Amino acid sequence: MNDFDSEIIMGMLRERGYFPTEKEETADIILFNTCSVRQHAEDRVFGKVGDLKQLKRERPDLVIGIVGCMAQNYKEAIFDRLPHVDFISGPRNIYDIPELIERVQGEGTRLAAVDKEERPQVMGRPIAREGQIKAWVTVMEGCHHNCTFCIVPTVRGTAQSRPVEMILSEVKSLDAQGYKEVTLIGQIVDAYGRDLSPSTDLATLLGEVNRAADTIHRIRFTTSHPVYANEKLFDAIREHPRVCEHLHLPIQSGSDRILSHMRRGYTVENYKKRIEEFRKRFPKGAVTTDVIVGYPGETEEDFGKTFQLMGEVEFDDAFIFKFSPRPGTDAMNFKDDVSKKDKEARNQSLLRLQGRMTEKKLRSMMGETVEVLVEGKSKKDKSEYKGRTRTSREVVFRAKYAAPGDLLQVKVDSFFGKTLLGSAA
Ligand code: SAM
Repeated sequence: MNDFDSEIIMGMLRERGYFPTEKEETADIILFNTCSVRQHAEDRVFGKVGDLKQLKRERPDLVIGIVGCMAQNYKEAIFDRLPHVDFISGPRNIYDIPELIERVQGEGTRLAAVDKEERPQVMGRPIAREGQIKAWVTVMEGCHHNCTFCIVPTVRGTAQSRPVEMILSEVKSLDAQGYKEVTLIGQIVDAYGRDLSPSTDLATLLGEVNRAADTIHRIRFTTSHPVYANEKLFDAIREHPRVCEHLHLPIQSGSDRILSHMRRGYTVENYKKRIEEFRKRFPKGAVTTDVIVGYPGETEEDFGKTFQLMGEVEFDDAFIFKFSPRPGTDAMNFKDDVSKKDKEARNQSLLRLQGRMTEKKLRSMMGETVEVLVEGKSKKDKSEYKGRTRTSREVVFRAKYAAPGDLLQVKVDSFFGKTLLGSAA
């Protein structure tokens, strides 16, 4: 979501004649598009922006802005810690950024834009997309769940689905521009459409996007929530061939006690049923997840249940996070009682387990032929190409010739880390 917001910001600035530079010393504007999900990310921004103090002293005309979730989270208090910052803009004020920059340059005053309740729905703004093959399409802003640990609803606002026509028109335009893959994004993307009138759902939207696409090969969606990932959605994935059989379904914990405390709205049993239904339809599909270790009150027994669940489900991949208390969330009021050392040990233990699971998956794929969407030449060896499978697995392969955007069949013969290696069939 932040990557896409950066592309929107870049698009607005390009329109005004700005272009990217590699060096901070030569920049007229330096923007930090920030994340508040964990403290660690924020600490790094405070450090990095702090390092620019000297540069700002030497070049007072340099505009420094903190945009995104940290701006919304700290509001004007950011200026107390970082007095050399010129402006801040929250995620819902993203379209105000060009004007803020102009006003800072003209008036030399310090500005804050963190007041919007919702992000305006706009069409046709130039987006400076990172590549020419894959594109993000926002289908939902914000989030309507109030999980105790999560700051997203506070900083990005409540859930707001974008109208179907707007999404389809964006997809058609991407199709006409030659993009080959679109990813529909939302914090809880599988709750799409419930707030629209008339209401709709992600399964229906996937069908419509599939029909709207002509030369787009692949349609993805992320992130799903276990409460909404139902059989209708899985049937839609099967029915519409461009939709990829990859489900990112955050479990967060393998202990029902912790899940209930987090207010996730499902049990481990419900979760496992969802996965079973998905895998019944897509034995070669991928399921990935997010897990939090060290949530307040997590005992060794709770953690043991998470460990056991991960061993049972055998995810294709997992993001493991150490609990980080976030201001404004309910979990902030609970005692952060799992020691740093225990959080680290639990984190390492799950990383090792997932490493073994991922390796097992990769090993089982040896000799298989997989469909790869070519992204370009491999970074390491220019005589090789890279791309991704339908399940998002990176593949580096040999081929006589491959152009970005091609769909190729690749025979897999080995792997390195999490990357499959092979040659075009
Ligand atoms: N909307 C998604 C959901 O909850 O189903 C994910 C949103 S969040 C940007 C991505 C992941 O960050 C979450 O799934 C969770 O594992 C992790 N996360 C969120 N808040 C956290 C916190 N306070 N401490 C540690 N990890 C956190």
